[in-house]
Amino acid sequence: MLISIVAPCYNEEAVLERFHEAVQKIADELLPLGHDMEFVYVDDGSRDRTLTVLERLAARDQRVRYVSFSRNFGKEAALLAGLRHASGDSVVVMDADLQHPPELIARMVRLREQGYDQVIARRTRTGDRLTRTLTARLYYRLVNRLVDVELMDGAGDFRLLSRRVVDAVLGLTEYNRFSKGLFAWVGFPSTTFAYENAVREAGSSSWNLRGLLDYGLDGVLSFNNRPLRAALWLGISLLLCAGLYTAWIVVAALLHGVQTPGYVTIITAVTALAGVQMVMLGVIGEYTGRIYYEVKGRPHFLVKATNVERTKDLIP
Ligand code: UDP
Ligand code: MG
Repeated sequence: MLISIVAPCYNEEAVLERFHEAVQKIADELLPLGHDMEFVYVDDGSRDRTLTVLERLAARDQRVRYVSFSRNFGKEAALLAGLRHASGDSVVVMDADLQHPPELIARMVRLREQGYDQVIARRTRTGDRLTRTLTARLYYRLVNRLVDVELMDGAGDFRLLSRRVVDAVLGLTEYNRFSKGLFAWVGFPSTTFAYENAVREAGSSSWNLRGLLDYGLDGVLSFNNRPLRAALWLGISLLLCAGLYTAWIVVAALLHGVQTPGYVTIITAVTALAGVQMVMLGVIGEYTGRIYYEVKGRPHFLVKATNVERTKDLIP
């Protein structure tokens, strides 16, 4: 079996060599068991010398394939490029920052041999700040109510995929990619195991609060139109409330005559309704924006340099 390791790299010059050594070691261990390995590294428009490191690795090790983007297109695009360039019967996607312990690959391969199409390594949140753990937990609670696929906390982009899963994921050509959800959407027999999360070896995490919020919103919006439904129901309930309130006012006016005071009621109603309408417009806008991006049909990434010849595959 040929196993492809797919790793997106963004400003990872500090750890890349060590990462490659670590996976090479695993490759050496798996070779006697009849498994070959190739390494597909995607340089996501790094601003440091990641590409130089990759070229050096490729010169030293024939099994290294690298793809370098013309600019930073984001991790999702890098993952997609990695999957497109991987030729293995199984593909392991993992981060290049050594937070995904390479030792687990052997275990994934064993589980793959037992017939699972997806082997998901699920990290425990040890070492994370408490606030991050709690918000993550809350987020997944909420999101799993909203989306059609089941998303699991900690089950991210460290997983082994069989060829048919990879092909299925590549068949999903949407521009807005939320891999976690796409993998879940594809399905096929899957199994999960937990591992202790390692602290980042060097470099720094590229996530900030804003990024996390955006990512969170993507998770909710990419998978169905339930937020639109929610907006609809909110509108209907407000309409009902307004109807009841109007009826009450009319009855009161009939019984006691018209009473002019009501400034507070009017202001509250006007501002609250304006707010609700803005939110609904926002929800509609989010979906329209997504349609806009999809319709443009732009490529997910542009390649600046690569040692893989299969350039025709790059046209989506
Ligand atoms: N990454 C990428 N493009 C980006 C940001 C990150 O390819 O724009 C890669 C990065 O090199 C790493 C992986 O995605 O291999 C995870 O990134 P990071 O460690 O910053 O995220 P975290 O581990 O904090 O979730
Ligand atoms: Mg990381």
